[in-house]
Amino acid sequence: MVDRTSREIDRRHVFYPWAAQARIEPVVVTGGAGARFTDDTGTSYLDFASQLVHANLGLQHPRLVAAVHRQADRLCTVSPNHATDVKAEAARLIAAHAPGDLDTVFFTTGGAEAVENAIRLARLHSGRHKILAAYRSYHGATAGAVTATGEPRRWASEPGIPGVVHFFGPYLYRSAFHAATEAQERDRALEHLEQVICFEGPDQVAAILLEPVVGTNGVLVPPDGYLAGVRELCDRYGILLIADEVMVGFGRVGEWFAVDAWNVVPDLLTFAKGVNSGYVPLGGVLLSPAIAGSFADHAYPGGLTYSGHPLACAVAAESVRVFEDDDIPARARQLGETVVAPALAKIAAAHPSVGEVRGRGLFWAIELVTDRDSRRMLVPYNASGPAAEPMVRVLAACKRRGVWPFTHFNRVQLAPPLIIDESDLAEGLAAVDEALAVADEYVTG
Ligand code: PMP
Repeated sequence: MVDRTSREIDRRHVFYPWAAQARIEPVVVTGGAGARFTDDTGTSYLDFASQLVHANLGLQHPRLVAAVHRQADRLCTVSPNHATDVKAEAARLIAAHAPGDLDTVFFTTGGAEAVENAIRLARLHSGRHKILAAYRSYHGATAGAVTATGEPRRWASEPGIPGVVHFFGPYLYRSAFHAATEAQERDRALEHLEQVICFEGPDQVAAILLEPVVGTNGVLVPPDGYLAGVRELCDRYGILLIADEVMVGFGRVGEWFAVDAWNVVPDLLTFAKGVNSGYVPLGGVLLSPAIAGSFADHAYPGGLTYSGHPLACAVAAESVRVFEDDDIPARARQLGETVVAPALAKIAAAHPSVGEVRGRGLFWAIELVTDRDSRRMLVPYNASGPAAEPMVRVLAACKRRGVWPFTHFNRVQLAPPLIIDESDLAEGLAAVDEALAVADEYVTG
């Protein structure tokens, strides 16, 4: 028996992602259920981040835990070249709810690998090499996915893979196009994208890669018609559309997949996180029949030892059944409309630091400013040290009140598990409301 706490052992031996190792103090999580988790001091938190926006069915969901146990007793691992009943069943169930004719699944172990393979599939299928990706996006930490990422987490990995070009998507609150209305923002963003295509050489562009609702970078819900417009540009220039639904797929924004809200069908769709709530790591790419078909007679040059892992697929299949039985996407949509939207409207009215609230389903952002007129951000992009302190204090104030959202730049982002009940949701929102008094201290305008 080691006579030290997990906290000390962790700090001695574990290297953390995206962190200055000497500065972080991770919470030691000792347990959890549903929308709550507990740390080693006995403090319980309402999980308004679904861990890393992945535990869509919450912690220790009895049906998912049982699925792990059942499969563990039967068969824990096989070669990715073997078929199993659970891999077939997971793929069938995912395809059954996928947009349009997306019918074939390539399984990975997470989101970044899904994006890597979507890029590779698009390049091989089209014979073109350029990938257009959006600023204000996150696509993962592997070479291709991080190059496609349109925010500061890309910088340290540059120059990255060749052929990736960034464009601006719609974001009316900080419009790159000086637009005054959603319709203007949509039209100008599409015009800008078409110019990027034309100046990059339409017949060199393999794919446009985007998050249909931008996740980490602000819960940016596109104006109606934007995604249909992108689809139209893709069709006009023979470009493939890759929807990265790693964060917003599987009910997060109140639909099975975010593109469903606008009836747009991409050629490739990446998923991970909510597919099985991360009980066993899993991701994947959904392929159109045309793309899958282009590998009918010659080999797809890519693979992963753990592709289609039986434990992960068993939980995914059970998770889709829970989504079906409990109508999880509709539940998320309804709670978003009836509980979150009105609560956040009140919060926006009450706090001068709130510049904008926006979201859909159970995914929302509260954008904080020091001055509503100039929209000056409460902390600048990529702030660290003293410049980041206001957001550090806001987050700490939330946690002190027992609620655990996540923050990115000047935003508090809310992504509770989709199984949360109405009273927990209201309780968490009330705690966030109180915590925002800290942000109000910085208001100058
Ligand atoms: N794409 C998006 C939209 C994501 O939000 C993420 C993770 N937050 C990824 C890809 C990468 O997924 P993973 O961390 O599983 O590699």
